[in-house]
Amino acid sequence: MKKKPFIIPSACAAILLIACAILGYQYAALGARYKTLETEAFHLQEDNSDLNTQLEDTSSKLEDNTSQLENSASKLEEQEKYIAGQKDFISQLSEQIDSLTNGDSSGSDNDDGDYWSYDPDNDSFPNLYAAADGEKTQNNSKYVYLTFDDGPSSLTPKVLDLLDQYNAKATFFVVQKNNEEYEEYLSEIVERGHTLALHSYSHDYNEIYRSVDAFLADYEKVYNWVKEKTGYTPSLFRFPGGSNNGSSYVGHQIIKEMERRGFVYFDWSVSSGDGSNLTTTENIIDNICTHVGTVDLPIVLMHDGSGKDATLAALPSVLQYLADEGYEFRSLDKNVEPVQFRSSSSKES
Ligand SMILES: [Zn+2]
Repeated sequence: MKKKPFIIPSACAAILLIACAILGYQYAALGARYKTLETEAFHLQEDNSDLNTQLEDTSSKLEDNTSQLENSASKLEEQEKYIAGQKDFISQLSEQIDSLTNGDSSGSDNDDGDYWSYDPDNDSFPNLYAAADGEKTQNNSKYVYLTFDDGPSSLTPKVLDLLDQYNAKATFFVVQKNNEEYEEYLSEIVERGHTLALHSYSHDYNEIYRSVDAFLADYEKVYNWVKEKTGYTPSLFRFPGGSNNGSSYVGHQIIKEMERRGFVYFDWSVSSGDGSNLTTTENIIDNICTHVGTVDLPIVLMHDGSGKDATLAALPSVLQYLADEGYEFRSLDKNVEPVQFRSSSSKES
């Protein structure tokens, strides 16, 4: 009976030992499980970074493809614009050819045989005369005459700077602008050695080609404006739309009267095609550079009016090309043989 009190502590110790053994086993098992999970997590991380790299690769390839696609689309768009510009240029040329072919026959409204002319003794425009003739110029070099219509505008000083870079002289056929800043460019044109010539006051075909008087009244405004702003008397002019614009009959009378007043008009032999807003910079460069060598006296029609940014953008390439071809850039004067689509003489046929 004396042993009995030891049974309980022994049993307790045994239970404790067993509990410890179980806990120990579980701890070891948990440790092993933790290691396994740690390894798995490491592999997962590795996989994840591989996937990320692949994703980055794929998206950069996608970006490359997208930018290639965008590039092709913009090239296509450029090509389309170029073609549209050339088509427009061709239709302009066709119209010009048509009007040259049919122009003189439309003058048959003067079949009464009497050749109408302005009466100088009854002159409503007594101060509208060109300056006296200058010296004759030798024309045996390779000259090109760049001309700019419809200015001055904010583009004009940029055109003047580009011309200076090539020591190039040009001719500006101006339209009256009631803008003080633009008015200053008139004197700039003269001071930098270019020819300041007249284009129109209103540039409104329906108005100016109505009659000789209507033309003179419009012309006198721009003539007075230029004289007042610069002190310079212009002698050269260009008809809005060219001399074959308007009716053949009135056109002949206007030319005859303007020549009587000593003015000389110039059309052009090379068109940049920039009259249309569809014309691209590329069109302009091509139109000038491919045609300038095909004529004896290249008088190049361009515009420096508002919005003619494509012309300004084309100008450096045009100047460089022509300089490389050995052309000397000259301004027009009364002694340069004019290019004229229509003469003052009435057609007898
Ligand atoms: Zn014009």
